[in-house]
Amino acid sequence: MAAPVLGSEPVSDCLFCRMVAGEIPADVVHSTDRVFAFRDINPQAPTHVLVIPKDHHRTVGALAAADPALLAEVISAAQDVARQEGLVAGDGEEPGFRLVTNTGPQAGQTVHHVHLHVLGGRHMNWPPG
Ligand code: C5P
Repeated sequence: MAAPVLGSEPVSDCLFCRMVAGEIPADVVHSTDRVFAFRDINPQAPTHVLVIPKDHHRTVGALAAADPALLAEVISAAQDVARQEGLVAGDGEEPGFRLVTNTGPQAGQTVHHVHLHVLGGRHMNWPPG
């Protein structure tokens, strides 16, 4: 049997682990065995969904190192959410969406359980603030 991946166990004081466990309510839009997605409580766009692995990993780099297949599942779920929200371009249309993952204080990471922000439903500017 494979050894458990260090850092992937639920963390009792982690807000997102507690949402996955159902201890804190979340507006869930997508859930699989290993991935969970819910609407951001403070939306920055008409669609603002957070997609997370159910396992606890602090950053996207930590997740990539520990479980690259799970990172791929998270990205694939983000694509599914974008499609569900009408953000994936069809023929002759021009919707779109942005995936953001903040890492560390200077980038503005406030919750230390890796999450992809799926943002869409309005025109996005570049560079980001
Ligand atoms: O990238 P960052 O770590 O700052 O993102 C954390 C996100 O979690 C924020 O967009 C914040 O609005 C969201 N959040 C939430 N529900 C909470 C606390 C934070 O959706 N209860």
